[in-house]
Amino acid sequence: QIVTRFAPSPTGFLHIGGARTALFNWLYARHTGGKMLLRIEDTDRQRSTKEAIDAIIEGLEWLGITWDEEPIYQFARAERHRAAVEEMLVRGNAYPCYATPAELDEMRELARKEGRPPRYDGRWRDRDPSERPTDRAPVIRLRAPQEGETVIEDMVQGTVTFPNKDLDDLVLLRSDGTPTYMLAVVVDDHDMGITHVIRGDDHLTNAARQTQIYRALGWDVPHMAHIPLIHGPDGAKLSKRHGALGVDAYRDMGYLPAALRNYLVRLGWSHGDQEVFSTEEMVSFFDLDKVGRSAARFDFQKLESLNGQYMRGSSEAELLAAVEALVPHLPDAENRLARMTAERRAQLAAAMPGLKERAKTLVELLDNADFIFVERPIPLDEKAAGLLSADGRAHLGRLLPLLEAAPEWTATATEAVVRQYAEAQGVKLGAVAQPLRAALTGKATSPPIFDVLVVLGRDESLGRLRDQAA
Ligand code: GLU
Repeated sequence: QIVTRFAPSPTGFLHIGGARTALFNWLYARHTGGKMLLRIEDTDRQRSTKEAIDAIIEGLEWLGITWDEEPIYQFARAERHRAAVEEMLVRGNAYPCYATPAELDEMRELARKEGRPPRYDGRWRDRDPSERPTDRAPVIRLRAPQEGETVIEDMVQGTVTFPNKDLDDLVLLRSDGTPTYMLAVVVDDHDMGITHVIRGDDHLTNAARQTQIYRALGWDVPHMAHIPLIHGPDGAKLSKRHGALGVDAYRDMGYLPAALRNYLVRLGWSHGDQEVFSTEEMVSFFDLDKVGRSAARFDFQKLESLNGQYMRGSSEAELLAAVEALVPHLPDAENRLARMTAERRAQLAAAMPGLKERAKTLVELLDNADFIFVERPIPLDEKAAGLLSADGRAHLGRLLPLLEAAPEWTATATEAVVRQYAEAQGVKLGAVAQPLRAALTGKATSPPIFDVLVVLGRDESLGRLRDQAA
C-alpha cells in the first residue's frame, strides 16, 4: 500500500506552495488507494506556534484535503530520534564531534576564502575515544561516505547524482541532545511507513543527505518525487506580490476552495489540455509521471477566470453557503453579519442567478449585492450620482405613478411599464433604466435592473425611487 505524507513546519500560514504539495500527496494517495498522513514538523520550538498549526489544519480542511489517522507531531518523537542515533553509534555510522564554535568558524572562514560552500572537515571522525574532552558535550555526526556518489532516482527529476565529497558529516544530534531536522524526517518517514515522499524540489539536496541516513540505519529509502516550485508570472521566485500568500488569504479574496484546488493541480501537473477537473477526475487521472520538471507559473488572472467558471457552475444554494462561510472572515464581518437578516438572506438568494453570472469572486459578488444591504436613503457612488441628473430624476418622478400602478411586481410586468414609458417619452430604454439603476442600487452597474426591482420588492423599490425622484 502506498503511504504519502504532508509534513508542514508550523512556522507560518499554509502557503500556496505547501497547499499544492499537500494536494499532490493527497491525490497520489487517493489515486492509488493508499493513505496520506499528516506530520507537523514542530521541532523549531521558537518559531512553531499553535496558531500556525491551526491555520494549516484549517487551510487543508477548507481546501477539502483530508488525511488518514491522527496527525503526528515531530517534537514529541525526540526520544525515538535519539534512539535511532544510538543505533547508528553502535553500527559505527555516527560519531561524537567536539569541535568548538571557534573551530567551526575557522572552517567556514576557510571555505569563504576558497570560494566554496562550508563543510565540516571530519576532524573527529577517526579520533580515539581517549582523546574526548570531558568538559563539554559533543554533537553526534553522521559518518557519511567520503567517496563515490549518492544517487537519487527521483520520480519527477529523474536520476540525480551527488558526489559524496560535497556532502559533509552532518549533525544528527545537537550537543543538548535535540535531534536535527534531517534526522527527524528520516526516522519519522520510516516509522510512519512512508513509501513516497512528494515535496518541493528545494528539498532535493536534503534528499541526498537523508538517503545517507537511511543507508546508515540499514533502512529502505522511500520513493521520492521532488516537484518544481511555483514561480511568479515573470519566472522569478514566487513573492507576496505574485500570490505567495496563505490559503486563508485566497479564501478571504473570495475564491471557492474547489476552484483553487483545480487551479493548484494544474500548477505542475497536466492531463492533456484539460483545464477543469471534478474531484473524481483529479483522483482518477492524477499520477506523478505527468508532473513536469519546469517551474509552474502562478497566474492570478487564470485563477480568477477559473473561479468565475466555478461560480457560474455552482448552484445558487452552494454559492449562498459559500458567501455565508466567507462573511465572518471579511474585514467588516461584524457589520455584515448584523445586516444579514433572514429577509436579506432571502433577497440574496433571490438575486443569486443574476449575481453569479457577473462575478469572478465571492467578494465581487458581495459587492454587487450591496444594494440589498443598504438602508434608505441609500448612499450613491459617484457614477450613480452622475446618472441622477435633473433629467434622470424627472424621469423617475414621472415613472413612479406608473410603477405604483403596475398590475403585478414581476420582472416582466415592471419591464413592460418602463419600456412603454420610454417609448412614450421618445427616449432610449437606457435613458430611463440607468437613473433607475442608480436610484435602486446606488451604483452604475448591477444585476439586471428588473431583477433588482423584484429582489428588493415593491415597497422598498418604490421607496428608493421616491427618495431620488424630482
Ligand atoms: N517541513 C518541511 C517544510 O515545510 C517539509 C519536509 C519534507 O517534506 O520532507 O518545508
